[in-house]
Amino acid sequence: TDMNHRVSKEIVRFAVQNKVDVIGLEDLTGIRDRTETSKKQRYTHHSWAFYELQSFIEYKAREKGISTVYVDPAYTSQTCPRCNHISKNNRHKKSFVCECCGHSLHADLIGARNIESRARTYRYTLEVQGCSQPPIRELSTR
Ligand SMILES: [Zn+2]
Repeated sequence: TDMNHRVSKEIVRFAVQNKVDVIGLEDLTGIRDRTETSKKQRYTHHSWAFYELQSFIEYKAREKGISTVYVDPAYTSQTCPRCNHISKNNRHKKSFVCECCGHSLHADLIGARNIESRARTYRYTLEVQGCSQPPIRELSTR
């Protein structure tokens, strides 16, 4: 809990410093049946600590006027953010090399960029529907 407080505080501090108004996080509530994850990832994603970290980020961000949106994380680690090609073969442990266009980057950064992209798409969808802010989710119902 102490570590999650420190990490979330740092993430929100970074967001404030860089004038970020929306933080995108993985929506992990439906991941179990839809995506293949390693046992280690599954533990990380479904652990109470990970949920707690997301909750801390969300409420600390809200205090600073920053919204949090949750996006579907399916295939974010296998999708090329440059050409959208999806393949397991794009991943080689911690490195990502797109078999289609050759784009390469650390696998964690690929996942983060795809989540950012989905968060932007989600925001855009809300905006064109006339919603200026993402709906506030009740944390207790997750
Ligand atoms: Zn590519």
